[in-house]
Amino acid sequence: AKERGGANWVRYADGMERPASAHARLGGDLRRALDDGEFTLLYQPLVALDGGRIVGVEALVRWEHPERGTVSPADFIPAAERTGLIVPLGRWVLRETCRQAAAWIAEFGPDVLEKASPNVSVRQLHDPDFVADVAAALADSGLPAARLVLELTESAVLRGHHVSQVLQEIHAMGVRLALDDFGTGESSLSLLRAFPAAIVKLDKSFVDHIELDEPGTPAADARQAVARAVVQLAGALGLETVAEGIENQEQADRLLQLGYTVGQGYHLFRPMPSEKLTEILAARRVT
Ligand code: C2E
Ligand code: CA
Ligand code: CA
Ligand code: CA
Repeated sequence: AKERGGANWVRYADGMERPASAHARLGGDLRRALDDGEFTLLYQPLVALDGGRIVGVEALVRWEHPERGTVSPADFIPAAERTGLIVPLGRWVLRETCRQAAAWIAEFGPDVLEKASPNVSVRQLHDPDFVADVAAALADSGLPAARLVLELTESAVLRGHHVSQVLQEIHAMGVRLALDDFGTGESSLSLLRAFPAAIVKLDKSFVDHIELDEPGTPAADARQAVARAVVQLAGALGLETVAEGIENQEQADRLLQLGYTVGQGYHLFRPMPSEKLTEILAARRVT
């Protein structure tokens, strides 16, 4: 289950119109929260479906609000995008992810994980400092560029020449790009031609119930057909795949059968604080 803020908060953040004063208050609240250090990151491992090795981590932001408790990103990212606060917030997420990944590599060695992935919002790509921010996050943390994977949703990358130029610059730095929620956008396939993605993340909606394939059940057949087409296409284009939202072993088995080698989901690991993942990595260390 997702963390939820109070009822008032969910109403604020649901994307509906609201009085300008409420909008301003929310923007101010997010700004203050960033200044006061109320945002934290949880890390969810990406796991080899065959053998269980941790190959990467995705960073997922949370707001530890003093009164509302833990607020989920679904309840404040849209507001952060509207107000523009996503730019400094996203910069913090990027820097913190690089810092933490470099710390794990320093502590446990280069094989501890191959890559770390922050989510990046389209608003950040339009910020003139974005490319420099990525370079600085790498330089300041010491994380090699090849170990950073920026997760972008399909909608985010669709928009325009400027974005594609920024993504080319990021790509040229050696940072990799993952297309998040793959298969849910309207032009996933044509996008792959234009976009320098290295990784596609099969959306959870295609993983849900993928194990329930009573023959001839149209919904299950369609999901499997999409899942199979995505992994075949990715293979043909030399892209890696990640299957998202795996909630049971049957799904993991079926995805492995279809050709997916890396997965993510509550069945494998839930998102967790860095301290908890440090313990898991320490316990797995091969000496
Ligand atoms: P996403 O990037 O698609 O992240 C995956 C979401 O699915 C996460 O939700 C994760 O906790 C959840 N999840 C992982 N495995 C499972 C599973 O097996 N079952 C189910 N039901 N859910 C699973 P979360 O952390 O609430 O994040 C929601 C969305 O908020 C993310 O979707 C992403 O779009 C956005 N987000 C999170 N952190 C950031 C951030 O730092 N910056 C930006 N711009 N967006 C973020
Ligand atoms: Ca993501
Ligand atoms: Ca996703
Ligand atoms: Ca999503």
